[in-house]
Amino acid sequence: MRSKKKLFYFLWVVAVIIATLAAKTYPEKIASENLAVTFVDIGQGDATFFETPSGTTVLVDGGEADEYEKGLLPFLSSHGAKVDIAIVSHYHSDHEGGIYESLLDGKIEKLILPDYPDTDGTRKGLERAAKRGGCEIEYVSKGDTIKVSEDFSLKVLHPEKGGAEGKNFHNNSSLVIMASCYDTEILLTGDIESRVESEIFAGEDIECDILKVAHHGSSSSSSKGFLTAADPTYAVISAGKGNSYGHPHYETLEKLENDDIRVYRTDTDGDITFEIAKDGIKNIHTER
Ligand SMILES: [Zn+2]
Ligand SMILES: [Zn+2]
Repeated sequence: MRSKKKLFYFLWVVAVIIATLAAKTYPEKIASENLAVTFVDIGQGDATFFETPSGTTVLVDGGEADEYEKGLLPFLSSHGAKVDIAIVSHYHSDHEGGIYESLLDGKIEKLILPDYPDTDGTRKGLERAAKRGGCEIEYVSKGDTIKVSEDFSLKVLHPEKGGAEGKNFHNNSSLVIMASCYDTEILLTGDIESRVESEIFAGEDIECDILKVAHHGSSSSSSKGFLTAADPTYAVISAGKGNSYGHPHYETLEKLENDDIRVYRTDTDGDITFEIAKDGIKNIHTER
């Protein structure tokens, strides 16, 4: 009886572990020939994770350092734990903090940084952490394309080398990236404001399928002109539950709603995964 009880307990523990892993890991739900992009719920910040059919992974931003242990780390652990390419959109802690921690943990193969200077040593800290781990560093600016695979590339639309001009230097110097996954376009906008949005859509084709809404849904971004030019089917807002900034602002939500754009939010939906096939978006999984 005792050994039967032990066996039953052991099987129960195994079942619980399998159920937990299945709940946290999406790849078995993603067809092997498709690409997955997940907007990770890491509280008030940004983290976007791409996984190609061959298993190559790209992480754009990583949230705050103090959210790493309970946010980004468990996510990465349930997705193979390695990041082939990590990109920092700009040197603000709610974007670079988790990347810094991942570098210290030796999880990143290659680091891509925006080519503008900062004054508080954040860029130097990232560079030092990367070098210590033997991680390659590349700097990008407008006009560069990061070719990840035959079917997946990232084109940098902004800023010029040296960063943006004018007020709110860091936010407006965010890398703006058009990710092309097969024929599906995903526009990542960091924390740019309306002024920079106008500069970008005046010179670039920004039409996309999924828009990662700028600056956590702040009303100082997502101008009418920008949304019209981007014309997305889906918008994703990354914001922390009950954050002190009031993100996303209701003005932004109203504009998205008026344009009939389907909105997903990490604060209410948790992790949001789009499964992308050769002929377009196949499935959308949300954690909640
Ligand atoms: Zn931010
Ligand atoms: Zn910022």
